[in-house]
Amino acid sequence: MSSDYEREISAGLSAVRLASEICRGVQAQITPETLEKKDRSPVTIADFASQAAVCKVLSETFPDDPIIGEEDSAALREADQAPFLLRVVEELNGGGIDCDGTTACAWIDRANQAGYCERFWTLDPIDGTKGFLRGGQYAVALALIVGGEIQAALLACPNLAPGSDESETAGCVFTAVRGQGTHVHRLGDSGSAGQPVRVSDTSETSSARFCESVESSHSSHGHSAQVAELLGISAEPVRLDSQAKYAVVARGEADIYLRLPTRADYVERIWDHAAGVLVVEEAGGRATDVSGKPLDFSQGQTLKQNRGVVVTNRHVHDRVLGALREVGVE
Ligand code: AMP
Ligand code: MG
Repeated sequence: MSSDYEREISAGLSAVRLASEICRGVQAQITPETLEKKDRSPVTIADFASQAAVCKVLSETFPDDPIIGEEDSAALREADQAPFLLRVVEELNGGGIDCDGTTACAWIDRANQAGYCERFWTLDPIDGTKGFLRGGQYAVALALIVGGEIQAALLACPNLAPGSDESETAGCVFTAVRGQGTHVHRLGDSGSAGQPVRVSDTSETSSARFCESVESSHSSHGHSAQVAELLGISAEPVRLDSQAKYAVVARGEADIYLRLPTRADYVERIWDHAAGVLVVEEAGGRATDVSGKPLDFSQGQTLKQNRGVVVTNRHVHDRVLGALREVGVE
C-alpha cells in the first residue's frame, strides 16, 4: 500500500475491529427469548458501544476530523436510561476500554456532525440491525469523504466468511482506498495481510446473480423480480442484511445489488452506503442511483440528490438501468 491514506486505514482498521469484537460479544448473548419478546435492547447497547469505540479509537489519531454517525447520546443520557448506559460502559470495559458513562456519551457524540464539510468520516456502528438480532449478517461501516469523494473505506462483516473455504466465525473486514483497490482481511487477526478482491466478469445478464435486502420495506422485492425477469435471470435473489451485500458483489459472489425505493419520501443515509460503494468501485464495480446518476456524498447526512441504489460488477450496469426504466423505476 502506498502512503496515501495509510494512517487512515490503520486507525480505521483498529477502530472497526474493536467495535466488531464488542458487537460479537453482545450478539452472542441474544437468546430466542430476547427475540420472542421483540426486545431490541441488545442492538441498542451494541450500537452505542460500537459508535463509542470507533469514535474513541479514530479520535486518537484524528482528533479534529468531524464524524457523521447514525447515533447520538441524547436518549442514553435520560435518567431512566441509566441501566442501558451502564450496559454500554460494561461492554466498552469488556473490550478493554476504561471509561465511565459521561466519557462514553462524549465519544458517541463525537459523531454528531450533521452538515457537509471538506473532510469527514461517516459511520454506521451497526448496519443491518435486523440481521444482528437474527444472528445473521450485519456490518460496522466507516468511510472517509474528502471534497465530496469517498477516499477510504472500512467495512467489517463479523459474520461473513473471509474466503469460500473458511468458516464464517472468522469474519472479515474489507478495506478500500481510492485508486488502490479493495482488500479483504481476517477480522480477528490484525497481523493478516489483505488479499485483493475483484468483482465477477459476468456480462451475460441471464447468468447474473443478484442480491437485495431481506426487508421488503427497505427495497422493493416486486420491482426487482420484474427486473430479473426482463434480464432473463433465473437464479433466486440472495437476501441478506446490511452492507454485506456490497461485499458479496465486490468479491464476485453476486453480480448485482438492487436497492429499489419502496416509498416516495425515503432518502438514503450516507452511512448505509459510503463504505460499501468504495469497496465495490475499487474492486472494479459500479454504483449509481436507479436512474444512473452518480451517488452524491456532498449533501450532509443523506443522499438527497439520489433515489435508490444500483450496484453491479460494471459489465451489466447499463442493462440493469435499462430494465429499471422499462419497469418504471426511476
Ligand atoms: P438492509 O440491511 O439492507 O435492509 O438496510 C438496513 C438499513 O436500511 C438501515 O440502516 C436503515 O437506515 C435503512 N432503511 C430504513 N428504512 C428504509 C427504507 N424505507 N428504504 C430503504 N432503506 C431503509
Ligand atoms: Mg444502517
